[in-house]
Amino acid sequence: MNISVIGTGYVGLVGGVVLSEFGHNVICVDIDAEKVKKINLGKSPIYEPGLSELLIKNLNAKRFSATTDIEFAIRQAEVIFIAVGTPPQEDGSADLQYVFNVAKSIGRYMNEYKVIVDKSTVPIGTGQSVKNIIKDELKKREIYISFDVVSNPEFLREGKAVFDFMHPDRIVIGFESDFSKEKMKEVYQGLYINKTPFLFCNIETAELVKYASNAFLATKISFINELAILSESVGANIKDVATGMGMDGRISPKFLHAGPGYGGSCFPKDTKALYDIGMKNNLELLVVKSAMDANENQKKYVFEKIKRELGLLKNLKVGVLGLSFKPDTDDLRDAPSLYLVPRLIDEGAVVKVFCPEGMSEARWRFEELNSSITYCENEYEVAIDSDALVILTEWNQFRIMDMKKIRSLMKGNFLFDLRNIYTDNKDVRALFKYFGVGV
Ligand code: NAD
Repeated sequence: MNISVIGTGYVGLVGGVVLSEFGHNVICVDIDAEKVKKINLGKSPIYEPGLSELLIKNLNAKRFSATTDIEFAIRQAEVIFIAVGTPPQEDGSADLQYVFNVAKSIGRYMNEYKVIVDKSTVPIGTGQSVKNIIKDELKKREIYISFDVVSNPEFLREGKAVFDFMHPDRIVIGFESDFSKEKMKEVYQGLYINKTPFLFCNIETAELVKYASNAFLATKISFINELAILSESVGANIKDVATGMGMDGRISPKFLHAGPGYGGSCFPKDTKALYDIGMKNNLELLVVKSAMDANENQKKYVFEKIKRELGLLKNLKVGVLGLSFKPDTDDLRDAPSLYLVPRLIDEGAVVKVFCPEGMSEARWRFEELNSSITYCENEYEVAIDSDALVILTEWNQFRIMDMKKIRSLMKGNFLFDLRNIYTDNKDVRALFKYFGVGV
């Protein structure tokens, strides 16, 4: 099948490469010429385990290519995926300009029947808007071409995106015509045959499943974070609380890890967008609002705790390990580091940082603070002369540090383990003034 994917970010590039690995002929489109050039040279513009290898393999097999030529990509495809960003606007609602621009291009250039698949996370009703925009463009061209719009939200996790796209828990397809439903089965033929669960539903349902899933997971994190704060007051251990809760099959242990608050490109923006959708439908989603409020509170809480324990932060050297919002990604969008690092600097701390893959994004995101930040080569360089160390993201290499060496390099002995990775390690706890979250 000839497939085009418009937008080559974390979803579009991974999706496009994996669909070519499934045997389809895929063209990925982006407006960013530099990105396209890199991709065609076999260099992934994002860090995602396993992606570069698959990219090179499918470029060599000539099943995959990237282009800036959207007209060509639209004309040659039977199925067109829209995978552009839907970032939050000031008021929390999703910015749909990129999705609508792509819809316009599709209407402007399509030459025969197409299935247009919305993979971006979009508010309920966007599928219908996309349909109307395409119809309007066709009207301007004074031609009639039939097409179908499908909603196929994406649930991949950054850091595990390739695996998730190849082994999804489920595929959700919101459709209107049986023909487009069959086409989507063809797109995911390998998965369909292999008994991956499929949910076929209407477009609005599929759009809501995506927001509902992310808001639910965000709520789970906020719930355990709030109880972590309570645990500190009442002498409970949140790790054990979470373990005890997770043993209940109805609850499951996943997404019950206390920490510095959720971040990333999806949970913060999708909870805000869902809340906005509720308000536009005269319904205040109180649970979603509380999850968002608790998350803001969590970020403040961990910062205040660091401040309280260290006393005056002025001129103290604080080392921060992990800047990406989670391990195995270079993505810093809405990461807790974007909150914590500026606060530490505001209070006069001297900040040293290291992240295995997040350093170049950090350099431009912290551009205005760069004179106050020392970017280090590794975790040991961060430790040198530091009064305190903050583990902000649980990269594997931070789980197996030589903690005796870390301690000997440091000036002070404060360890803020905001991911609770050393909570159960008595030797490490004995070396430092140790603070976890809720333990
Ligand atoms: P991204 O910002 O990483 O990538 C979007 C890409 O689209 C960029 O490369 C941009 O240059 C390109 N683009 C914008 N307008 C374009 C146009 N008119 N033509 C061609 N390309 C264009 O975004 P992302 O993280 O991949 O997310 C895409 C969508 O998928 C969002 O709606 C997001 O919420 C959703 N989603 C993301 C994840 C994730 O983990 N990142 C997971 C599931 C769903």
